[in-house]
Amino acid sequence: MLLKKLLNKIYYLILGHFTVFKHSFKRAVTVEYPEKKVKLPERFRGKHVWNSNECVGCKICEKVCPVNAIHINKVEDNFEMQIELSKCIFCGNCQYSCLKHAIKMSNDFELAVLNKNDLNLNITSNEKKIEAKND
Ligand code: SF4
Ligand code: SF4
Repeated sequence: MLLKKLLNKIYYLILGHFTVFKHSFKRAVTVEYPEKKVKLPERFRGKHVWNSNECVGCKICEKVCPVNAIHINKVEDNFEMQIELSKCIFCGNCQYSCLKHAIKMSNDFELAVLNKNDLNLNITSNEKKIEAKND
């Protein structure tokens, strides 16, 4: 019984080393982020870009959001977008449903913050267009 256990351990030790050896000749599938970055897919969905000039305040984006993360408010003669990125699941419903194509999801995925509240964004109409950060 003891010998069987010992042989088992030796077998898995050799198997482990063999697996590492085999993979040391293969191309790495990971990259050294953040120094290196992978090419994002064409339809990647990152942080929202809102073009307030196109927005007509129909609130369809609000209605289709499954987690209630996006709100369009009328402030005097302008619109304001409130978005809670901490709730957003980046499904893209808001982008695909906007008939005016006022919402686009950019390639910006580096959204880490120390304070969760910093992920609640207020975008006002004064910011004519928030440019997407495409690396
Ligand atoms: S769906 Fe588009 S046009 Fe309608 S409120 Fe949202 S961003 Fe504005
Ligand atoms: S991407 Fe999806 S979850 Fe995020 S705000 Fe748009 S509809 Fe809501």
